[in-house]
Formats: sequence, structure tokens, C-alpha cells
Amino acid sequence: MDKKEMMRIFEETAYVHTGGSPEELRCAEFLIGRCRAMGLEARLESFPVQTAEIRRAALRADGEEIPCTGYRCAGSARIEAPLYYLSGDDPVSLAACRGKIVLVDGHVGYWKYQDLLSNGALAFITCDGDVNAPHFDVEQRELRAHFGRDGKLPGVNINVKSAFDLVRKAPGSVELLLEQEEGEGQSRNVVLEMPGEIPEALVFTAHYDSSPLSIGAYDNMSGSVGLLALAGHFAARPHRHSLRFVWCGSEERGLLGSKAYAAAHEAELERFVLNINLDMIGSVLGRFIACCTSEEGLVHYIRYLGAELGFGVSARQGVYSSDSTSFADRGVPAVSFARNAPKGAGTIHNRYDTAALLLAEHLEQDIAFITAFAERMADARQCPVSREIPENMRQELDYYLVRKRRK
Ligand SMILES: [Zn+2]
Repeated sequence: MDKKEMMRIFEETAYVHTGGSPEELRCAEFLIGRCRAMGLEARLESFPVQTAEIRRAALRADGEEIPCTGYRCAGSARIEAPLYYLSGDDPVSLAACRGKIVLVDGHVGYWKYQDLLSNGALAFITCDGDVNAPHFDVEQRELRAHFGRDGKLPGVNINVKSAFDLVRKAPGSVELLLEQEEGEGQSRNVVLEMPGEIPEALVFTAHYDSSPLSIGAYDNMSGSVGLLALAGHFAARPHRHSLRFVWCGSEERGLLGSKAYAAAHEAELERFVLNINLDMIGSVLGRFIACCTSEEGLVHYIRYLGAELGFGVSARQGVYSSDSTSFADRGVPAVSFARNAPKGAGTIHNRYDTAALLLAEHLEQDIAFITAFAERMADARQCPVSREIPENMRQELDYYLVRKRRK
């Protein structure tokens, strides 16, 4: 695929396509069409996801309306209660949540949410953006399914400037209103299989869904384009290992596509020798990284390969917040490749994530390196990466997948 063709894909997918939406399906069909144009038959694999249609979301303090977006899948409620700003996660700060609408800094992660629940909070307010950029769009967030297992708290998201003003004003009480219709819908993975000489398979992944405010060029049409280029490359070339290409849906909603794929293909997992995941490549600024959820040996291999080919790569062991995690958690060694933009030069999950963040030459170079790595793995007599996930990585997976809480 040449540079022009790659850049055209960003134009043709420049619309918001969140997991489970009709636009996600449109994007999936686009990818299938691109495969077909290369003579390759990809197919859809659907999986269920929670859905929500927000009817109304409002936050009022002393009669004044504060702009907000409602948390999807967080129930419906109208609550008037005292406002409490939770500034820390110590027991004293947490105990004061009882009976309050609680304002928290930034996001509410799994453990913070459990703290809010167990300390008797009635609802929560998160914030987003920069105090000096009050016009920054307020992200549309959702309460992930596993958060709400033990109870749903209604929540809204506001600009951090509004949070600033709220704490300054210290209103007696606030009113939070959230009305939505919740249900179940479908999201999809796009799957392409390419048999090799042996049944042992490499699984390539890249998520193609975007987050609600974003058309997701950098995060992650860039990786999706990379996967298309890899598919085109291997289609025209014999390879020893079998290959799977999975464009994952609903990654932004909690790696749902890769989790669904790994669960649906459980019987084949033992034949999967390595997962190669692409999430955000080709940025104008930023360093190229390889995050290996595997034995340390793969880290060294990638460093050596970078040296051999004259390509700068920072390789390390770790758990990357992307679809590679779903495979590693089931015992398939995984590596995520990305070009990590520095702060301010690659803002994602908002309207600024467009093709303007990307450089066609970097995209091409990143894909060339990943292809060189993938070729060696695909043609290996035997995949050199140990099929074991080492203890330190299993522990990191426990933290990432919230089975264990970091002390
Ligand atoms: Zn991503």
C-alpha cells in the first residue's frame, strides 16, 4: 500500500465510530471492502455490548446550570444532595462521601468507583480538560459493565474549569439529573484468516473503533491501516505460520472486542503462538515503542532487530493498555507496537485526533519495521517466544484487569 492510499483511508473513515454504533459497523464494512479489494475475504464476528441512549443529563448548583455529559450505562436518577470534593483516597477523605454527590479528580477508575460505592456516595461527578481551556469538549463517558456489578451510581462529567468554580463557590447542595434508556446491542470484530504451512498461528490485532468525541485517526485508524498493509504484504508471499488478522471493535470500551475474540476462539488459543498488536503508530512526533507482555527475551530480540535494521525502538516488558492484554491474559505472549506522541502533540479521545497528527513517512517506516519483525516470526521454524507468561507479567495483568489492587 503506498502512502497516498494509506492517507486516503483516513479521509474515508473520518467520522466518529464508537463501539456498538451503526458507524462502527460502517467502518467494519469499509475494512472488509479494503480486504476484498486485495482479494481477501474478511468476515464479521459480532459480540454483545451494553448500550445506552442518554435522554437528559443536567447538573445544577444554587439554581445555576453547569454544562455536563451524562455517564452512559450508569442508570437514571434525580438526586439533590450536598456536594463533596473527594481530594484523596485515604480513609478520612473517603468516609465523608456518605450521602453526598461526590466530585472526583479526572476519571473514576474501578477501585475509586468501588470506594465510592462502599462509602455510601449517592452519585459522582468527574472532570475533563484543562482549567485554561474552558471550551475543551467534555467527554462522553460510560460506566463499564464490570464497574456496576455491585451497584450503579449515576454520574456526570464536567469541564475541569467547572469543577474549579464549583469547589470555589462551595454551593450548599447540588442537583444531578440523569435519564437514559439502557439495553444491549452488538459490536463486531473484523476477522481475516490466512492459512500457512503449519496450524500454529500469529494473531495480528488493531482496534478500529473510536471514542465518542473522536474520529480516531491516530487512535487507532493508524494501527488499522498498518494491519491492512500487513495483510496485503503476507497475501502476496508464502509464510510458514498461519496468520490471523483481527480488527477489534469496542477496544475503547474496555478491550471488549479482543476479550470476545479470545473467548470465542478459546479452543484454538493453544495454537496461537504470538499476538502482535498495533495501537497508535505513525505520529509526526513521538518515539516508537514495543511493549512485550512476554518473557524478557522478546524485548532483547526487538532491540537487536532495531539495531540490525537501523530503526530506533524502545522495547520493554510491560502490560499495554490495549488488545494485546486480552491475549496475554489467556497465556498468549503479546507485543504492542506504538509511536507514542509527547504530551500535546498527539491528543486522543477528542476532536483533535485527526490525520493531521500523522506523518505518512513515519507511518510507512513504522509499518516496515513491524512487517520485518512479523516476517521473521511468520517464517520461523518454531516461534522463538516462550509460550509462558512470566510471573512479573501475570502480576501486572492482575493489576491492570483489576483482579488485584495496588497497595
Ligand atoms: Zn487505542
